[in-house]
Amino acid sequence: MSRNKIESIGKGGRRAQYVVVGHPIAHSRSPEIHQAFAAQFDDSIDYKKVDVAPGEFAAYADEFARGGGRGMNVTVPFKGDAYNYVDRCDVHAAAAGAVNTIVFGEDGTSAGYNTDGVGLLNDMQQRHSINLAGLRILIIGAGGATAGVINPLLNVHPAELIIANRTLSRAENLVEHHKSRLGEDIPLSALDLAELGAAKRAPRVDVVINATSFALNGGEIPIAKECVTGTICYDMSYGPAALFQRWAVEQGAVKSFDGLGMLVEQAAQSFYIWRKQMPQTEPVVAAIRASMSGD
Ligand code: NDP
Repeated sequence: MSRNKIESIGKGGRRAQYVVVGHPIAHSRSPEIHQAFAAQFDDSIDYKKVDVAPGEFAAYADEFARGGGRGMNVTVPFKGDAYNYVDRCDVHAAAAGAVNTIVFGEDGTSAGYNTDGVGLLNDMQQRHSINLAGLRILIIGAGGATAGVINPLLNVHPAELIIANRTLSRAENLVEHHKSRLGEDIPLSALDLAELGAAKRAPRVDVVINATSFALNGGEIPIAKECVTGTICYDMSYGPAALFQRWAVEQGAVKSFDGLGMLVEQAAQSFYIWRKQMPQTEPVVAAIRASMSGD
């Protein structure tokens, strides 16, 4: 038996179990991504997706850990619950107050991580060669995804990072939280998303990142075209939901990318945290993109 195979065997000879939990979860591509990663190491893993009812996260996590579960990915709406659940967490999860990856230790403790920010940066900076240092960045949305990426984005020293949200108080809370951690002079500010619906209020930025879920709930593009003309755009959504990415191209964005690369990159970080093996992401991005073109 290879060393990889030995690593995937849990206590009592059972394969280590992994899971992604969310509500809803049917759309998740995480099982196929993690199976593709494992296959690169001539291995296979037990990775399921589980729909957990709101309010039931902690009970499910306890049950999963008791049953031999080793690793969990967490998605909407449980990243905050996961942060409250874990015994300790990494710097990005602590800064975000949100956890998307959990390791259940054999000593019964749990550790939380947030890999969304590293996933975004790896996709934008490495795959798409966008050097964010010194750029003015507008991020629309102030939910769990934005919370996860602010600290990593600040770490690459943008000239400005503006968070615009439909519910202004959520953007303001994020700004206040990071200023209290890092100091009042960090280049982070909040904006009412409604102001960006009017062309005359288009801020002068280099990069626009969509981290709203408007496309999933039948909403309209929430900003005026003048906000994206001449900018580099990035849509955290992917597949049919990447409406912002496609719209931005039509409005004259210099470049526009969807969030599939981020999805695979954040998963690769989770895989590494669990198994100490860093998978190649490019073939997995290509395979999923090819499968989505037939969706
Ligand atoms: P949340 O539910 O935590 O937040 C949703 C955000 O979208 C809020 O800021 C909300 O505003 C805003 N929003 C929802 N509908 C509208 C609308 N019609 N007009 C304007 N704003 C709207 O979700 P997440 O932050 O976790 O995820 C956001 C998006 O990012 C999702 O599409 C998700 O799939 C994607 N994502 C992609 C990842 C990847 O790896 N590619 C990783 C994580 C997320 P308000 O506060 O006012 O309600």
